[in-house]
Amino acid sequence: MDDERISRRTSLATLGGLVAGAAGLAGWRAAGEAAGGPAAVAEGLVRCVLSPEQTEGPFHLDLDRVRRDITEEKPGVPLTLRLRVVDASTCRPIRRAAVDVWHCDAAGVYSGVQGDTGTFLRGIQRTDAKGWATFRTIYPGWYPGRTVHVHVKVALGGNVVHTGQLYFPDTVTDAVYRRAPYDRRPDRRPRNGGDAIFRNGGRRSTLKLARSGAGYVGSIAMGVMRG
Ligand code: FE
Repeated sequence: MDDERISRRTSLATLGGLVAGAAGLAGWRAAGEAAGGPAAVAEGLVRCVLSPEQTEGPFHLDLDRVRRDITEEKPGVPLTLRLRVVDASTCRPIRRAAVDVWHCDAAGVYSGVQGDTGTFLRGIQRTDAKGWATFRTIYPGWYPGRTVHVHVKVALGGNVVHTGQLYFPDTVTDAVYRRAPYDRRPDRRPRNGGDAIFRNGGRRSTLKLARSGAGYVGSIAMGVMRG
């Protein structure tokens, strides 16, 4: 990971270069990762990284659905998503950012497609004073051609400032997928390394997973540029 992590000072210098020199890189936005929590942010110990925007994919629906629990009784291994929004130029948390997530169910199916009017596994939360948005959901399944992922969009004051995808360590997915109902669909592919979108910065968008009861908590910080 060290090759992908750079110090805050280096990150800011790189950001300056991007902003000054490259309107052509508009498809890329600055993203960062804050580790160590608010105290680390305050002490300037956090490290920021630059990560690419990733495709929104064909399944997004604009829902005015603000809710923490997006499960809608879909079966699967419990997953709490803890997503933190920070300012990529200062590493400080951003409050009141709208975080929009959506992902497929254990069978690899999204709500709201092919005539389905459901809203399962989609939701929006506002970040709290420390930049955190929390969702309760299930571990996503997979569909052909993609590694397991969660789509995410971050908006500030109505402007979308980040569109990305969040990923899961393959070893954790392997363990989860040995359990029902995921085990009905063995031999998932591709894994992270074989996914063309993951290759474009996915390691920097990979959730940190920790066991929690029968499920997991997945956390990550997303650095965004205020417009
Ligand atoms: Fe997708």
